Amino acid sequence: MMTPTAQGLMVTGGSEARIVTRHGDVLYCDCPDGVQLCKHLLAVGLHLA
Ligand SMILES: [Zn+2]
Repeated sequence: MMTPTAQGLMVTGGSEARIVTRHGDVLYCDCPDGVQLCKHLLAVGLHLA
């Protein structure tokens, strides 16, 4: 599930909800582990494609 919020897209469905924000052409996720391309970014990328 992706829900637009004031901060960005909230991605739920995993263990925790994450906020994915877009800066120009670049997507960022607030995953704490520094994964460069996590499942949230993949989900949003597919959603926006
Ligand atoms: Zn993530």
